[in-house]
Amino acid sequence: MKKIVTFPNQILRTRTVVVTAVDRKLVNQIKQLTAELMGQQFGAGLAATQLGFKSRFFGIKNQQKEVDIYINPRLEASYGNKIFPQITTKDGPEDFIEGCLSFPDLWGTVKRFVKIDVSWEEIDGKNLVTRHKTLEGFEAIVWQHEADHVDGILFVDLVKRDGGKFFWWADDKEKIPMAVDEILDKEKQ
Ligand SMILES: [Zn+2]
Repeated sequence: MKKIVTFPNQILRTRTVVVTAVDRKLVNQIKQLTAELMGQQFGAGLAATQLGFKSRFFGIKNQQKEVDIYINPRLEASYGNKIFPQITTKDGPEDFIEGCLSFPDLWGTVKRFVKIDVSWEEIDGKNLVTRHKTLEGFEAIVWQHEADHVDGILFVDLVKRDGGKFFWWADDKEKIPMAVDEILDKEKQ
């Protein structure tokens, strides 16, 4: 199985190439990405660049715990402003924190649209066919995170842009606040 690329590997900054044809290479890359994501118990999504692929697609686990593949993803419309999303817990509302398989043990808050209309392409035999749907909540957030990846944009960039919270959280240790620049500066070294 292919290893997931971790930051600051510059492969993660690749602006991927639009998929124009269904060929063996694409099918093989999708198979590898699907297998890798299925094997990640805590991974909600995985983008092509995270496996070193330069094609424009990503995968997201759906509610049946299968992987949906989105080729040439496009954000078609959004509802409302970007906000720091919240989730409801037994102790009340809490910030939704994003993580990324390319940033083990690092988490942060990012402003996202909580409802979006998206389109993408799917493989149908030897052809690509366009699909549309509306996503809300967790799925919408994951979709935006993965769509950023195929443009070489990482959640840490957005934590910085939005002035979000950022912390290191390993095993059972408590969340340790960190400056996001501590991580971003690794790219300059
Ligand atoms: Zn990610």
